[in-house]
Amino acid sequence: MDLEFDQQHVWHPYTSTLNPLPCYPVESADGVYLQLENGRKVIDGMSSWWSTIHGYNHPALNQAAKAQIDKMSHVMFGGITHQPAVDLCKKLVDMTPAPLQHVFLADSGSVAVEVSLKMALQYWHAKGERRPKFLTVKHGYHGDTFAAMSVTDPDNSMHSLYKGFLPEHIFAQSPQCRFDAEWNEEDIQDFKNKLEANQNEIAAVIIEPIVQGAGGMRIYHPTFLKRVRELCDQSGILLIADEIATGFGRTGKLFACEHAGISPDIMCVGKALTGGYMTLSATLTTKHVADTVCGGEAGCFMHGPTFMGNPLACAVANASLELLLQGQWQQQVTNIEKQLARELPEIAKLKKVKDVRWLGAIGVVELFEPVDMAKIQKDFVDNGVWIRPFGTLVYIMPPFIIKPQELSRLTSAMLRTLQ
Ligand SMILES: *Cc1c(COP(=O)(O)O)cnc(C)c1O
Repeated sequence: MDLEFDQQHVWHPYTSTLNPLPCYPVESADGVYLQLENGRKVIDGMSSWWSTIHGYNHPALNQAAKAQIDKMSHVMFGGITHQPAVDLCKKLVDMTPAPLQHVFLADSGSVAVEVSLKMALQYWHAKGERRPKFLTVKHGYHGDTFAAMSVTDPDNSMHSLYKGFLPEHIFAQSPQCRFDAEWNEEDIQDFKNKLEANQNEIAAVIIEPIVQGAGGMRIYHPTFLKRVRELCDQSGILLIADEIATGFGRTGKLFACEHAGISPDIMCVGKALTGGYMTLSATLTTKHVADTVCGGEAGCFMHGPTFMGNPLACAVANASLELLLQGQWQQQVTNIEKQLARELPEIAKLKKVKDVRWLGAIGVVELFEPVDMAKIQKDFVDNGVWIRPFGTLVYIMPPFIIKPQELSRLTSAMLRTLQ
């Protein structure tokens, strides 16, 4: 592969043209393995950013894509519908909390978030109220498009660069109580204060349920989310759950909201929706929100991407959800969690390690100092694993199909590399 050209001309996520770090050419992928061009195989600890839950090159997903491509790859969704989209939306309505009844298919996680925010704004507009603000918590991540950036932690991300240009929303203290610690009622106080102080301005609360992903890999107490739901109920403010990273089994529940036994008014899913094959996301909402939105002045929900409901992506998503519905994911994720609980504490003993934590098929090591990316990436590849840290966080969320000895190779590579 022409790596020279890649470095000179191809932009990778969050990279510099002045100081391009080398990329590893991947030739193919199968199960939990990435086949590098130099003949090496590495175990993917990242599931290509939360998405490849069933592993690469899965026969059922391949078959779904092949069968669909001979019928049609794409057709517009305006005035037209098709079986893959209907089947997919039916599955999503069935598997998500019961109040969520209407599905908007979108292109990526960030767009699903944009759609959720627009739904909330249109909802209040239809009710004749001006509600320009969103309330969220610090350390959140909701995507890289503008509205999604505006509710992403402003200090913790590069998005601070856009301060003054982005609309300013309200950020409460992030949850401090850990998932399995004793709940401390004070944890919700700042959120409660901010909600009450801005009650009539807030259209919706947007939050990642239980696990804050790219904003810090923080795992928080379910009661925080319960309180958020209660406060939203009392005030009539809508609750948007961003399940883009947590959805489809990753945290040990099908959706992380289930840890708190709550249902949001709007839910965003993406990432693992197609089992990591293609970009596709969805925003679900209740009949009440949907009907209120559509009863407003606009008379409809004002959004419609060109590639909405792409049949190829829907067909693969159907196959991926069918694999989930067969139910093995539950045992797989439970086993991964138990193994992380045995193996990560060993890493916690290292002096440079500030904290280790885990939930479901997510394992996190937090360091005191940021890692040297180029060096650590090479060390990991030399150890036969693909783990991509950011800042002080070295974390894994492997495909659910990973075998115990493969997972051990991930955790022992973390231990060795950090030593
Ligand atoms: C990844 C992510 C997004 C953005 O999804 P993209 O597909 O990258 O646009 C939004 N919210 C959360 C919680 C995410 O993890």
